[in-house]
Amino acid sequence: MAATYSDRKDRAMFLTPINTLGDAKVARVVDWQIEAFEPTGLLPDWDASHQPLLDAMPETMTPDGRHVLLSIHSWVVWLGGKIILIDTGVGNDKSRPFAPYFDRLSTPYLARLEALGVTPEAVDYVLHTHLHVDHVGWNTRLIDGRWQPTFPNARHIFSAKEYAFFAVPANAENRHRTSFQTQSDSVTPIVEAGLAEMIDIDGSEIIPGFSFHSTPGHSVDHASIVLRSAGSTALFAGDVFHHPVQVFAPHLLSLFDPDRSTALKSRFWALDFAADTKAKLFSSHFPASGVGTVSRRGAEYVWSFT
Ligand SMILES: [Zn+2]
Repeated sequence: MAATYSDRKDRAMFLTPINTLGDAKVARVVDWQIEAFEPTGLLPDWDASHQPLLDAMPETMTPDGRHVLLSIHSWVVWLGGKIILIDTGVGNDKSRPFAPYFDRLSTPYLARLEALGVTPEAVDYVLHTHLHVDHVGWNTRLIDGRWQPTFPNARHIFSAKEYAFFAVPANAENRHRTSFQTQSDSVTPIVEAGLAEMIDIDGSEIIPGFSFHSTPGHSVDHASIVLRSAGSTALFAGDVFHHPVQVFAPHLLSLFDPDRSTALKSRFWALDFAADTKAKLFSSHFPASGVGTVSRRGAEYVWSFT
């Protein structure tokens, strides 16, 4: 991978300003963007009454207003001399026959990371909200015909329960086909290389500043990752949200939420946490800056991009 990075258009589209949060700096590294879903496709309960919410956020839609934009990205955090990556996108060269919009991608993700001054070898920790296809992909690269760790010096931290779920062949039903493929090329090689640390999702501090909070429903042991630094709070909410319209209309579950009542409970936890702590919410899939705040307006919640 070339260390230089000169694609100005790409830089303008995908490199967003570096956020300051207490003593931490946080920046986004985009891997991919999906423009395949109409609102009703992503949010099965969507109806015309929600259209004004989308009209008020044109930056979250394709220019013709017909499809929602879903960004696939990582967050890189600099804190206490360490470099922490949160989720790792889809990855390159991965065969995803059941998820065609992720099939055999070739993106300049690592060049974007290096444009921020971060080499793969410099990453100290990789934290995962969950183990789905679009959150673990860059854990590995295809080198000499083998999936090898991209971040060879990083401890990769994720839920033991989620990994165990995908280790049981009986769980490999249709909905989870892609996830099972994903484990074999993007997670198991990390475990076999001795780079994995599997944890209980119990809210305790795992590494300085970071804790994992249980927000299941989208996946079996999904975690929202909280960063606290010098009086400031960040919530990396993972796939508790797919689009900011779900802040205004929390009952709009996504196509990808199999356990509806649990997913909804987790979403309200995240909304209340973000509003109560005045956290910055770093999304997994929102376009534009990908980051914002949640505030209350009466009994409702309001999203503002920052
Ligand atoms: Zn996702």
